[in-house]
Amino acid sequence: MSETVDILAIAAHRDDVEQTCGGTLLKMAQMGRRTAILDMTRGEMGTRGTMEDRAREAEDARQILQVSWRKALDIPDGQVENNFDNRKKVAAVIRELRPRVLILPYWQARHPDHYTAGVLGYEAAFVAGLAKLDLGFPAHRPFKIIYASLYADVRPTFVVDISEQFETRLQALLAYRSQYSDQEKGSGLFPREAEIREKVAHMAGFYGLLAGVKYAEPFVQKEVGLVEDLLSIPVQSV
Ligand SMILES: [Zn+2]
Repeated sequence: MSETVDILAIAAHRDDVEQTCGGTLLKMAQMGRRTAILDMTRGEMGTRGTMEDRAREAEDARQILQVSWRKALDIPDGQVENNFDNRKKVAAVIRELRPRVLILPYWQARHPDHYTAGVLGYEAAFVAGLAKLDLGFPAHRPFKIIYASLYADVRPTFVVDISEQFETRLQALLAYRSQYSDQEKGSGLFPREAEIREKVAHMAGFYGLLAGVKYAEPFVQKEVGLVEDLLSIPVQSV
């Protein structure tokens, strides 16, 4: 029997979550929330490293980010498709873990696996709520779906301050040694460690600037926010 979680982050590839919302997951864990990561693929098409390397690295990153649960599905790398079989695979995990909040990749991206994962995750959350569909666990639908939008050319609905989590989040990303360590193979494709640090700091710094903090991670929510008390709106305008 697996335990339920508060937040489940789903992404196409191992190390996607580390890049787009790893700091937020760590922050939530530090606040006492139970978090989980579901990777849709196992990385067998990667230019560098093997599937086994990536599994080990993903486990290291899980521990660094204090994530309670992590698993990779067997959807083919580079061929993430939004079909009913895949929706059922993802929906079964949503039912097993019963997250209140689901984090998905933003629905537009350069890499087809990334934007497909966003749409597939959304439709899987719907499928997970169909009471008459037998997936081995009782029906469940997350209360809230938000989209990690770090690499999308879109203005975030809100950002999460990860100034305190930034260094640890970077370590989780660098745990993918087969991808990021200085080495020759595929060196045109993969920035070296120092460049990664600089790039990650630029991105987090940009989103932090939007909300007046040092480092932040951006999210988009589709729903309009509902406000009860104007004095409780969290962001300072000037
Ligand atoms: Zn990816």
